[in-house]
Amino acid sequence: MRPISFEFYPPKNDEQRAQLDRTAARLKAYRPEYVSCTFGAGGSTLSYTGDTVRGLIEDHGFDAAPHLSCVGGTRAEIAALLQRYREAGCRRIVALRGDLPSGMGQPGEFRYAADLVAFIRAEHGDHFHIEVACYPETHPQAEDALADLRHFKSKVDAGANGAITQYFYNADAYFRFVDEARAAGVDVPIVPGIMPISNFTQLKRFSEACGAEIPRWLAKRLAAHGDDVESVRKLAAEVVAGLCRRLLEGGAPSLHFYTLNMARPTVAILDLMD
Ligand code: FAD
Repeated sequence: MRPISFEFYPPKNDEQRAQLDRTAARLKAYRPEYVSCTFGAGGSTLSYTGDTVRGLIEDHGFDAAPHLSCVGGTRAEIAALLQRYREAGCRRIVALRGDLPSGMGQPGEFRYAADLVAFIRAEHGDHFHIEVACYPETHPQAEDALADLRHFKSKVDAGANGAITQYFYNADAYFRFVDEARAAGVDVPIVPGIMPISNFTQLKRFSEACGAEIPRWLAKRLAAHGDDVESVRKLAAEVVAGLCRRLLEGGAPSLHFYTLNMARPTVAILDLMD
């Protein structure tokens, strides 16, 4: 089995904190290379990410990477946050632009993720391993696929060590994207982001917002199971495990699971891949 990583989001209340603790404890058995924790837009969860990362390191013994976005933070705030992460023992950062909550907030002082990557490198040299995001099915705001690829390359040129993709269910989109990135001179590992399917209605909503395509055949099959939660879960795990197998056979260096703080959907996939 190649290395895997898990992504969590920062819990906001005691119930969510207990759920994340249970999930982290269960997923530890799968020996992730590292785990990461998202950073909410608008600055409101500035401290939640740091607290969560500290818990993942101290209580669960993970190598934990905070996500850091350009949105909502001044240069000075981001510099202070980086210093705190360094002092907490973090060696890895996922650097993003982030999204402004609709109709509110100010963009930060950094406009694009490439600017943030360059800033982290300028402030901390090689201390942090920096991951960035990339989009096999093209970022929804990009002028076009080639411009998006150029912008991805600019993040690598600014100092990113690796990339995690937006989720997708079409393996060919990933393979083509990797070929194009290599042809454009991007030589860092490009790790597929894997979204387990547990709630199809929520997934459809997410996918519309982030530009990920749910293939028609998959949407139709999931819809055919209607409210039969168990059979939706079984089908979803089989489909995503098949995608993961194909990605690894085709040379994907690792897999990054968007757990949404739930162990079960990710475990169902991993257990089918043994
Ligand atoms: P960028 O690389 O800056 O690109 C954003 C857009 O601008 C793209 O369309 C790109 O083509 C374009 N662009 C880039 N540079 C230029 C330029 N010089 N001129 C013109 N156009 C340009 N969001 C969060 O808020 N918190 C998180 O924790 C988080 N984690 C994520 C983790 C992963 C693995 C992924 C894939 C996404 C994550 N996101 C997160 C979502 C992400 O913030 C959004 O997708 C956001 O819209 C783009 O972020 P980016 O870092 O890819 O931006």
